[in-house]
Amino acid sequence: DEKRYYSCNMIPVILPRGERRVVIMMRDVTKEHELNELRKQFVSNVSHELRTPLTSIHGYAETLLSDPEMDAETRKRFLTIIENESARMSRMINDLLDLERLESGEARFEFKETDLCVVVNYVLSIVEPLANEHGVQVEIQCEPVSIWADQDRMVQMILNLVDNAIKYTSLKEIGDKRVKVRVTREGKHAIVAVSDTGPGIPKEALPRLFDRFYRVDKGRSRKMGGSGLGLSIVKSIVERHGGEISVNSEVGVGTTFIVKLPIEREVEA
Ligand code: ADP
Repeated sequence: DEKRYYSCNMIPVILPRGERRVVIMMRDVTKEHELNELRKQFVSNVSHELRTPLTSIHGYAETLLSDPEMDAETRKRFLTIIENESARMSRMINDLLDLERLESGEARFEFKETDLCVVVNYVLSIVEPLANEHGVQVEIQCEPVSIWADQDRMVQMILNLVDNAIKYTSLKEIGDKRVKVRVTREGKHAIVAVSDTGPGIPKEALPRLFDRFYRVDKGRSRKMGGSGLGLSIVKSIVERHGGEISVNSEVGVGTTFIVKLPIEREVEA
């Protein structure tokens, strides 16, 4: 039932007996059409995403300029918004460029023996202030396992998941706020599971979760300073290591991201 697209060429021909005919050449261009649509969609998403913080920066700057008598507290509040929104814009641009390098294969990876417990402990030390600030308890459970990986990219990948877990869990008004990172070995794979007791993700949102700019709740994600690109980057890094990522979630209960990575050398830089 799928829609298909064709390009048509009509070529007039004269047969040996003088009869005139038209040959119609049809080429299936569905693939090109789809790629073009995706590209258009992407450009439109990027512009929209960048315009949102820009509009708010512009608006607050204008208000500040038009009211020289504004009280110090309001002024400070507006300037803070301007600062946050420009930082978010710059994060978005960096994430976009990084994602582009990852997906085009341009990003160089330095593979070596990487101890996942070292990575997870390092990630914990980075997120500790954020977790404390939000009253989220972070716990690690780590079975010693080393894999063939790019250590910095492993940090980036796990940091993204843990950072999301803390941010979205902190939004919960009641109940305990816990994030758990577990590293285990299952045969020829290392498993990294990041679970939280956060708000959870509705079932219908799960298939689109790793799409660029997809957010379950746009307003909420923006408020948290999100670029909407974090999970796309995570997925790209996991796949570059020959691994897979999946997610289990229940609204009101919490979310678990599970990353499965091959232990043995399967990929090269
Ligand atoms: P963002 O920058 O918006 O966090 P991501 O790509 O990291 O973008 O995540 C995409 C969306 O997935 C988020 O906007 C949020 O709606 C949802 N999400 C990600 N992690 C969690 C989580 N641990 N709990 C609930 N929702 C989450």
